[in-house]
Amino acid sequence: MSKDRIRLSSTAAISQRAPDHNTNSNMRNRQIAWLRFVGLIIVSICACVNAAYSQSNNSGTDQGEAGEPYPNMPSIAPIGVRIGKYLDVPASAQGPAIDPAKGYRLQDMGRGLYMITDNAYQSMFLAYDRGVVVIDAPPGYAAHIPQAIAEVSDKPITHIIYSHSHIDHIGGAKALGGHPVIIAQEETLRLLKRAADPNRLLPTVTFSDKYTLRVGNQVLELSYHGNAHEPGNIFIYAPLQRVLMVVDVVFPGWMPWRRFALAQDIPGYFAQVEEIRKMDWDTLVGGHVARTGTHSDVDVQAEFNRDVRQAATTALATTKPGVGLNPLDKANPWAAFDNYIDRVAAQCVNTLTPKWSAKLAGFDVYVWDQCYAMEQSLRIE
Ligand SMILES: [Zn+2]
Repeated sequence: MSKDRIRLSSTAAISQRAPDHNTNSNMRNRQIAWLRFVGLIIVSICACVNAAYSQSNNSGTDQGEAGEPYPNMPSIAPIGVRIGKYLDVPASAQGPAIDPAKGYRLQDMGRGLYMITDNAYQSMFLAYDRGVVVIDAPPGYAAHIPQAIAEVSDKPITHIIYSHSHIDHIGGAKALGGHPVIIAQEETLRLLKRAADPNRLLPTVTFSDKYTLRVGNQVLELSYHGNAHEPGNIFIYAPLQRVLMVVDVVFPGWMPWRRFALAQDIPGYFAQVEEIRKMDWDTLVGGHVARTGTHSDVDVQAEFNRDVRQAATTALATTKPGVGLNPLDKANPWAAFDNYIDRVAAQCVNTLTPKWSAKLAGFDVYVWDQCYAMEQSLRIE
């Protein structure tokens, strides 16, 4: 019975007695008070029953429905739950503004080397006496690349270097036109053959470990350090400018994209961050975000990686499997693991939040992803 119906019927009972003009008025008042009292009791009982019913609904008696939150649930919303207002981007993660009329920003890295960015993606080009070497062509702004080159050179694009095979970094290659030499690691050629994407022209020159490109008085040193983000992802070093470009590994000022930027090999990914950290360079181009990186940015990311690994290691060791699992799910090992891994991830997020939530931009966006990726890597790799 609904609360409203109870209220209606008790009011009706009261009003039926209200016009009585023969009875003693004290008696009538007592009757009214009594009816009101009984009505209140019934309303309260119904309210309790309703609350209990809706709570039992929340606790997941209906199969497959969300249940009670885990104990010590983090305040950072888990994957799939809408965030009302994401954490503010710290000033340390911001970069110079884009000219909206141009749609890109050109950053002079010295001696003919330039970075182009729309403050979400980053690519480069290197001008020499007879031409231009383009390094990556993100499709989002590839149409602006010739215009950006024209700001500083009237020479044709003679070479394109692919950092790796992913479409979001090289899908604008064909749109650049001409017949440039295209250089990539041999794994990138393999993946591009499989993708058979006409916008990602196949490399014409490939290498296994190292390749040095000398054009005019410019030098680029390409090297392969194994799988991390994906097979074929290379380090591109400009020794004269002391600029290192490694895409999708370090995100200056930011949390890596979800699941360590979709790293296909997480131990390899962690090792590459350490490798970048120990190398000798002045400026890092990471392929994303609004600014270039420094050694201090790489130190911060390496520290974050170590903290995630430690938090997930501790959570795996101290979380008891099966706690809070509905006994009716005992024969469902997938359910038992889901419940266990969720609680491991929640503990990992709680461990990281105080130190990192205001330090790295996008912490609330991807911290759950990093914890899930980390615990899985630690369990099986
Ligand atoms: Zn990628």
